[in-house]
Amino acid sequence: MSSIIAVGESYQKFNPRAYLQNNYMPPRADFSSEDCVVPWKLRCLAEAFATGKIHGHTLIDIGTGPTIYQLLSACDHFEEIIATDYLAVNREVLRRWVQGEPDAFDWSPYIKHVCRIEGKGEQWKEKEKKLREKLKQILPIDVHQPKPLGSELCHPADAMVSTFCLEAVSPDWPSFERALQNITTLLKPGGHFLLIGALEESFYLAGEAKLSVVPVREADVKEALAKSGYQIHDFRSYVMPPGLKIGVDDVSGVFFAHAQKKPMA
Ligand code: SAM
Repeated sequence: MSSIIAVGESYQKFNPRAYLQNNYMPPRADFSSEDCVVPWKLRCLAEAFATGKIHGHTLIDIGTGPTIYQLLSACDHFEEIIATDYLAVNREVLRRWVQGEPDAFDWSPYIKHVCRIEGKGEQWKEKEKKLREKLKQILPIDVHQPKPLGSELCHPADAMVSTFCLEAVSPDWPSFERALQNITTLLKPGGHFLLIGALEESFYLAGEAKLSVVPVREADVKEALAKSGYQIHDFRSYVMPPGLKIGVDDVSGVFFAHAQKKPMA
């Protein structure tokens, strides 16, 4: 437990601007190349939603952070999207984007790219408006609690997304597995779960904060999903090219999993 407290303390220095700069600006966000990490993530998500299997009333994103890219392909398939984060500073960054405040991070290159790869002829401004309207709640969360949202969620969500959260907030592997079990209670039986995360990473930087990460291998993720009662429909991995190793972390790759919580027996 004390190491979970230490992780929480280390996040107090997390700087959303620096995190966005490190991970969501060039060179990692280079839309001219599908081999670059950001377009790879966006394609995984777009293709998962294009299957038509993931839809419903509510989608919840676990550990949204200061980012919305992970919700762009989801917004056509749900009435309501719930964003969550542990840090008030990240929830404030999200609120500013939803309200269109002038100093908000510019996600327009992401929205334009997703409209392009989805190929449905949607105008990027339309998608931006849709996501802003559907992002109805931005809630505090702690994945280390048995009830991560306290009593905030009345009904389990129809689908769940989580990107780069569990491994980045867990002091060790047992905590990762417990956190996965905790968030799984927020998803209805039969609900789909899209999980993206870092492979073999031990730290990342966000301004003055140096955050420890539990190093994860593909096999660990698959085993943890199975243990938490998921069936895996798709699993992909990406090797971080040398040109994207820019000193802001020691990540060696990224995984993407599309899993489904088994219906109750
Ligand atoms: N989802 C974003 C992305 O794809 O870039 C942000 C990922 S960032 C590496 C990890 C996020 O987990 C941060 O936004 C942080 O505030 C959040 N976090 C930290 N402790 C947490 C906890 N105990 N429960 C849930 N989220 C937590």
